Amino acid sequence: MKVRVGINGYGTIGKRTAFAIMNQDDMEIVGVTKRRPSYEARLAVKQGLPLYVPNAEDAEVFEKEEIPVTGTLKELAEKADIIVDCTPGGVGATWKELYDQSGVKAIFQGGEDHSLAGVSFNSFANYHESWGARYSRVVSCNTTGLIRTLYPLDRVFGIERVFASLVRRGADPGDRKGAPLNAVEPSLKLPTHHGPDVQTILPWLNIHTMAVKTPTTMMHIHCITVDLKRKTTEADVLSVWDNVPRIKFVSGKHGIKSSAQIMELARDLNRPRGDFMEIIVWSDGVKVEEKTLYYYQAVHQESDVVPEIIDCIRSMMKLEEDPIKSIRKTDRSLGIEK
Ligand code: NAD
Repeated sequence: MKVRVGINGYGTIGKRTAFAIMNQDDMEIVGVTKRRPSYEARLAVKQGLPLYVPNAEDAEVFEKEEIPVTGTLKELAEKADIIVDCTPGGVGATWKELYDQSGVKAIFQGGEDHSLAGVSFNSFANYHESWGARYSRVVSCNTTGLIRTLYPLDRVFGIERVFASLVRRGADPGDRKGAPLNAVEPSLKLPTHHGPDVQTILPWLNIHTMAVKTPTTMMHIHCITVDLKRKTTEADVLSVWDNVPRIKFVSGKHGIKSSAQIMELARDLNRPRGDFMEIIVWSDGVKVEEKTLYYYQAVHQESDVVPEIIDCIRSMMKLEEDPIKSIRKTDRSLGIEK
């Protein structure tokens, strides 16, 4: 029998998660929630997804717009084995009591505190920590990006210290708020929360981060310096990453010099929505001096966490014990297998 998944919050992450689940053979969607009768609500219905509303009183506006509503979040939680909470940062916490009461499992996103679930998730680094868990939290897009490239480096070379500067997209392409229009805005609370967030999964990692928000919507760019425990070469570092799923190389020599061209490549590859779920590393932007490694990576914030959410469902629902088997199954289903 397939695992029954409900999605609370059919927005940027929620609709991509729904698309990914529809491509799996061991899980299915039993419903998604929407608060307003937006075009996304109409699209969900058109795709055959049962539409739920957070609270009973939210149904009225949908009825006026003649959009069929199947029930409330409480009813969805009773039907589902697991809820993927994709509501805005901080809102997930307000629904925890309902999940507690209905007995359903739930996955929260990076906008919630680690303490809400008590365990945070990355497919490669700690798949087993969410095994059979009632709650887990898939870390943010930036944290996922940092762990994808740093964890294999730590395994192979050992890491003494990491310093990362995050050049963040101001807002998602569909957003109307939040972005500096003609400014670069430093995060003044230092070091930023990104390092401690990585440590919710790799507690031993000596990592320090700073961040600026920029007037772009496409991707985050990370500028990373790593002091390794032993000397290596650029070729050896690239070979480590080459053998890891969900890391993709691009090259300035081939004309990919910015986030804009990476997004163009995603569209040229016919990736759904023009998404790039892999972390993109510039192969000709990697430099090693003795034990110090410098590199740049790009993170497609709207989609990189989606394959991790699928693996997290498999771990929490005890569907696949071997993380690599889950990762490969997910990647094959999403067309991102290496
Ligand atoms: P979003 O604003 O695009 O979507 C949120 C959805 O939740 C919308 O459909 C909205 O209608 C719904 N919603 C709002 N208030 C609600 C409520 N009280 N109850 C139920 N539903 C409600 O948000 P998003 O960008 O998809 O972010 C969701 C989570 O994923 C956040 O924790 C965020 O930090 C995290 N995240 C976002 C990104 C990103 O770049 N967008 C990347 C990784 C993780």
